Amino acid sequence: MPHELPKAYEPGAIETRWADYWIKEKLFSVPTPPPGETRPVFTLLLPPPNVTGQLHMGHMFGQTQMDIIVRWHRMRGFITLWLPGTDHAGIATQMMVERDLVKEGLKRRDLGRKKFIERVWDWKKHYGGAILNQMKRLGASVDWDREYFTMDEDLSHAVREVFVRLYEEGLIYRGHYIVNWCPWHETAISDLEVKHEDVAGKLWEIRYPVVGSDEFITVATTRPETMLGDTAIAVNAKDERYTHLHGKKVMLPLMNREIPIITDELAQPEFGTGAVKVTPAHDPNDFEAGKRHHLPQITVMDEHAHMNQNAGVYAGLDRFEARKRVLADLQEQGFLVGEKDYALSIGKCERCGTIVEPRLSEQWFIKIAPLAARAKEAVESGEITIVPDNHRTIYLNWMNNIHDWCVSRQLWWGHRIPAWTCGKCKHVTVAREAPLTCGKCGSTDLEQVPDVLDTWFSSGLLPFTTLGWPDKTRDQAVFYPTTLLITAYEILFFWVARMIMFGCHFMQGHQQDPAIKKASGWADKKNDSVPFREVYIHSLVRDAERQKMSKVKGNVINPLEVIDRFGTDATRFTLAAMAAPGTDIAFNESRTEGYRAFANKIWNAARFMFMNVDRVEPGLRPAGTAEGGGPHMGVAGFQTSALEDRWILSRFNRVVADVNDALKTYRFHEAANRIYDFFWGDFCDWYLELIKPRLNFEDGADKSAAQIACANLVNLFDASLRLLHPVMPFITEEIWQAIYEGKPPLQSIALAAYPQSDEKQIDLAGETEMAILQDLIVSVRNLRAELKVEPKVKVPIEVFAHEPSIRSMIEHNQGAIERLANVEKIAFVENLLANRPGARGTARFDVHVIYERKIDVAAECERLKKELEKIEKELANNDKQLGNDQFLAKAPAKVIEGLRARRQELLVLQEKTKSKMKELSCK
Ligand SMILES: [Zn+2]
Ligand SMILES: [Zn+2]
Repeated sequence: MPHELPKAYEPGAIETRWADYWIKEKLFSVPTPPPGETRPVFTLLLPPPNVTGQLHMGHMFGQTQMDIIVRWHRMRGFITLWLPGTDHAGIATQMMVERDLVKEGLKRRDLGRKKFIERVWDWKKHYGGAILNQMKRLGASVDWDREYFTMDEDLSHAVREVFVRLYEEGLIYRGHYIVNWCPWHETAISDLEVKHEDVAGKLWEIRYPVVGSDEFITVATTRPETMLGDTAIAVNAKDERYTHLHGKKVMLPLMNREIPIITDELAQPEFGTGAVKVTPAHDPNDFEAGKRHHLPQITVMDEHAHMNQNAGVYAGLDRFEARKRVLADLQEQGFLVGEKDYALSIGKCERCGTIVEPRLSEQWFIKIAPLAARAKEAVESGEITIVPDNHRTIYLNWMNNIHDWCVSRQLWWGHRIPAWTCGKCKHVTVAREAPLTCGKCGSTDLEQVPDVLDTWFSSGLLPFTTLGWPDKTRDQAVFYPTTLLITAYEILFFWVARMIMFGCHFMQGHQQDPAIKKASGWADKKNDSVPFREVYIHSLVRDAERQKMSKVKGNVINPLEVIDRFGTDATRFTLAAMAAPGTDIAFNESRTEGYRAFANKIWNAARFMFMNVDRVEPGLRPAGTAEGGGPHMGVAGFQTSALEDRWILSRFNRVVADVNDALKTYRFHEAANRIYDFFWGDFCDWYLELIKPRLNFEDGADKSAAQIACANLVNLFDASLRLLHPVMPFITEEIWQAIYEGKPPLQSIALAAYPQSDEKQIDLAGETEMAILQDLIVSVRNLRAELKVEPKVKVPIEVFAHEPSIRSMIEHNQGAIERLANVEKIAFVENLLANRPGARGTARFDVHVIYERKIDVAAECERLKKELEKIEKELANNDKQLGNDQFLAKAPAKVIEGLRARRQELLVLQEKTKSKMKELSCK
């Protein structure tokens, strides 16, 4: 038989085979639908993993949820596009290659820009695809034909176009600005890439002499080395302590430079002395104050955070070395007047841990206010829904407090800013292609700005650039706005917010194909410029003890190792079954082990089914799936001829309704748990057991009844596999294909229809009757256990049915009760039995298990005699040891203690056995 499954369920082999098949057959590739298409569309953009990435639990968790939703839509007849790709990850990738260079004793500047970038592409070619290959093992049903890389030529072209348009619209400007600077990476990093740490630091008090008087003004600082770049002292205008000093100057210690005393809000009278130093080139607040008072900006450090020529005698020193020297000199010269312990929060580069230095540098900025206003509106108006709702509030708060976005990075790997500086007049020309001459003076001496764009710039454009923008394409008309975005909280701002800003700006006026939009359920939405209709923020995966996974703690769970042990299906099921919205999950392998057992249970049920399926005439086999992706369906060709048929069909329809409902609102855990309970409990434990005797094709049996029973089993199994498929795609494909002996009506179960509930198949009476029957069987099983009936022994029972209809139901299902509860005879009685040993009463029936333990006295006596001999032998031995003084002197106390305790036990056992023998009057 071609569809005979191997005896043992081995997920490894099955999963690789189907993953390869899906890709080879291009099952999830979506050609551009032509005009006139009226099917609904579902589009989902995969948050592009970094090209440097390795699959971790967070990815697997996100992608499992995405794949479930994607497969579910595909099976419901949507044109379903899941777009995969990777991000060039500027800083992360550059670091990776720089680390390799360090091993060769080189830095990137030794290679030069061109060679270095070639090295990065080389690296990408060899190692860049790792994470996508890992995704293939998960069974992610993405369209591999549309795979993109953010540095691809067409996407880079779109990036340049966006930059130039924003520039032409006046939304991009260049400015000196205090940025967070990582001295290790030698680049500006965004606020969001700085992680703050509370540390015990110091606050130093320094006094500055007032010029032309004996007075001093004392200020406090946590970074004394920056005083070398001070250009003013600020006091508050309302602070009467300093009124007499307004307009005067102080002498900057160590530098012997006169600087003004200014009045500014920067100085708060209630804080410290009420006076503060102003260092515009090294502090963001001072920078703003400096602009208000037109103060000079003196930079005293270079890009490596070493002091520069503006730092006088300290030039060349590292910032922390300079701090020591400055403090020593201040002390020596009598300017240092205090040192206090002080708790402060220091910012570190998220990637390399270096302490970030605020640095004045020339950067490119996006004027964010106009973009943010529309992005805020899109969420406030409900054009974009954010789930769970608390993230919506966080998003809106953030949009209200957003700063201009510094988009330039001093890296080599990335999209280079399309701007050229004139060597003659310093004018900067921004253009789509390299200009031949300066836009101002016509000189040909042009050099491209060295900076590249923040990685989030290009990934923020993906919803439309992956669909062919800036051209107007049919793909955009169909697939934009994308339907859903599933992502983690940590990139809500980095990525999600920027996609909304860019989408609303660049796709303004865009209209989705009206027929498709209507079919997809978005007819009431007006704004088609948004990048997606809905955002679902999923939670985190923690370890079994609810700790965040981290390399430092060493509690990182590698999903690929879990997959190797339990299979992808079981791992996916674990993640789904725990994925309650808004709750972090504590990943525990024992759960995965349990779900592997679940897969095994399904496997064995399938093997049982296949022992009979050959005998079903073709006309009775499942045919419904041949419709392929239609709006249909529940269980096709099911004939309800017995109580268990009516019941299982009803249960199935209820579960189907619940699962579809749960998936609509991302309650993955509910969907998974409902399917689990149905498949394991209702289907395998009950239905399969109940119909077994009906599958009798032997001579003399009712073959047509057997045909119907078997067809029911196959049809229901087929539908249940389709129900489970989005969560466990591999085992369901394997068994489903086997049902059709390798000639299925469709290429894959992934293209078959997802079950939909049919109210007409809900049978309340059937469910109630079945509940009573199950209760009776379980009651008898429990009573047998209480009475310690040997498993193989059949027992007679007495039943009192409280109503004639219940009695007749029990009579109808007598065979089932006899088999499933190991009952030899059912006697109906007309009185209550509930208060006797071995009996149980319920509202519908009372039942009594008739059993008296019979034993073979002679054999039991023989057994007890042997037992007694054994005990007494050990006891004698024990006594001998405990009576041996030499032994007692040498043996460890623990051993002696153990022997004594054992002696007590043996004495008790001896007594018990003797009394049992007496009871039975053994000789
Ligand atoms: Zn860094
Ligand atoms: Zn010029």
